Amino acid sequence: MTIKQEINQNAFGNDKNRLMDILLSINETQGYISRKNMLDLSQKLGISMAQVQETVSFYHFFSSKPRGKYNIYLDNSITAVMNGRAEVKEAFEQCCETSFGNVSRDGLFGLFNTSCIGMNDQEPAAIINNKIFTHLTPYRVKHLVEDMRAGKTTDELMYENFGDGNNADPDVKSMVSNHIRKKSIILKKDYIPFTFLTTKLKEYTPGDIVAEIEASNLRGRGGAGFPTGMKWRFGRRTEGKHRVIICNADEGEPGTFKDRVLLTEYADLVFEGMVVAAYATGSDIGLLYLRYEYRYLLKFLNRKLTEMRKNHFLGQNIGGVQGFNFDIRIQSGAGAYVCGEESALIESLEGKRGEPRDKPPFPVEKGYLGYPTIVNNVETLATAVKILHHGAEWYAGFGTKDSLGTKLLSISGDCRFPGIYEVEWGTTIREIIAMSGAENVQAIQVGGPSGMMIGMKDAGNMDNSELMKWYKPSGMMIAEKFFDRKLSYSDLPTGGSIIIFNNHRDLLGEVVMNFMDFFIEESCGSCSTCRNMPIIMKNKLRKILDGHGIRKDIYDLLNWGKVLKASRCGLGQTAGNPVLSSIFHFRHLYEQRIQSLTQFDSGFNLDEATKETKKYVHRKPVFHHFKTSETWKDQ
Ligand code: SF4
Repeated sequence: MTIKQEINQNAFGNDKNRLMDILLSINETQGYISRKNMLDLSQKLGISMAQVQETVSFYHFFSSKPRGKYNIYLDNSITAVMNGRAEVKEAFEQCCETSFGNVSRDGLFGLFNTSCIGMNDQEPAAIINNKIFTHLTPYRVKHLVEDMRAGKTTDELMYENFGDGNNADPDVKSMVSNHIRKKSIILKKDYIPFTFLTTKLKEYTPGDIVAEIEASNLRGRGGAGFPTGMKWRFGRRTEGKHRVIICNADEGEPGTFKDRVLLTEYADLVFEGMVVAAYATGSDIGLLYLRYEYRYLLKFLNRKLTEMRKNHFLGQNIGGVQGFNFDIRIQSGAGAYVCGEESALIESLEGKRGEPRDKPPFPVEKGYLGYPTIVNNVETLATAVKILHHGAEWYAGFGTKDSLGTKLLSISGDCRFPGIYEVEWGTTIREIIAMSGAENVQAIQVGGPSGMMIGMKDAGNMDNSELMKWYKPSGMMIAEKFFDRKLSYSDLPTGGSIIIFNNHRDLLGEVVMNFMDFFIEESCGSCSTCRNMPIIMKNKLRKILDGHGIRKDIYDLLNWGKVLKASRCGLGQTAGNPVLSSIFHFRHLYEQRIQSLTQFDSGFNLDEATKETKKYVHRKPVFHHFKTSETWKDQ
């Protein structure tokens, strides 16, 4: 271990719970984490080599092998694909003289695919050595690679072509654009951050704060919609030496990027929300879990925390309230979608693999390091401050009866104005289409890949009533017939991801296949259902798309989707939704591809399947593609 790495490690006090930070530090200074590093760490931190290895191997952005001097992680989300990712990928491969998944022979470039990096409004995009590069084209790639060969730094690669607002801040220097298209009560800059903290906090007891948030009916904005006031009340009443507030800034659902913008332009509001939540729940430890993809904001966010400490918004006796002591630390992730699940996030915060825990106990009872822990979404915390400043009654003037207030939407895909829209709950899909400048819309994915699809016409000749008994989606891909439906907890609940597909898109071959790849890549592998079933479902869909499917295959897919619901966490439980929702609402696309039952082609090629064996026994191919008149009776 080098002196520099020793320093990195010592900066975290040889604390095994800071393993993520130590590994991030080594990964960044050295480019990878060697076996020797892992052995040294296991000895110094008092944990087994296996424990270190399992953390290193879990996260996308850690590597146990040397990578390139420049490591290029190209986003493979559906919006990247729709905006020319294939050409950009090819350009990188040609210019860097290596293929994706590999490092060039001269060690200069590492090319890697990665899941959604939260840039769906400016795709294709890539992370190059922790910096974001957006709107990539083959031309831009050629010049980027030339500049990298000339030894330029990532800042120099951007030619000071920084984005708007705080993206141009000296501590950010990012070419990301905010694309804020519509502001309402949260995004309007009509509030001076920390006003509530400095002027009103001491007038409230913690119970008053909880009561006000409960009166507002604020629900978690990450997607699950759990009542925020209730969560704060539960957290407060659990005894513990410490209590913990966590801000979950690990938005990873493809199509979601609202938290990126909140952290860039409204970080003070989010941090004030954490302080207020800490006061309400009696917490003294604050953690913001920042997804690795937003690590380019880390220095800027840490500066904000330093300013807060100077202004006594963190530390001792905050807001003039004797005994209210609280501080916030930012923990970087290292690339894992499943860490958006609150118990997986807590595991990661403790330096482990981000595998969801069995529940109960819930985090409010036993969370980070065993302390009662309240996990809130970025948008939820920012909204709480505005509610407390203006009052629950004011908040009730926005939205619908069952869904009060506003929602931040991340809109991307086939539309003229992708970006962030703050809309009142109750907004219809038709209004979203109009405001985003979308035309010839075939379908809308609400709630990301884990959402669901509703049919545009009657769903083929299938009776869907059986499916309806158990399939209760949280989001959906919806089509024209349903464009008058409203965003709300009782109609279309959503965490905010909206992806629009026009009439030219291949919903099954392009979109659903991409979504299935995402779930296959992101499963933590703990449950056999989630580890295996998405692969099996994808293969079955491939068979149908290749023209070898029969109606029974569709029923198989439906049944397998049901099996997935037995998975431990939301990732596995929703991993079949791309297939299920497309069957449910675009059934005709499946029907068009399945075979006439009198001429059933199983797609099984015996020659191909026995090719290897024949090579060894020197037998020539004698069989032809297997066809049969076997019929599957329609169910
Ligand atoms: Fe892991 Fe999937 Fe099981 Fe969740 S459902 S715990 S992601 S294997």
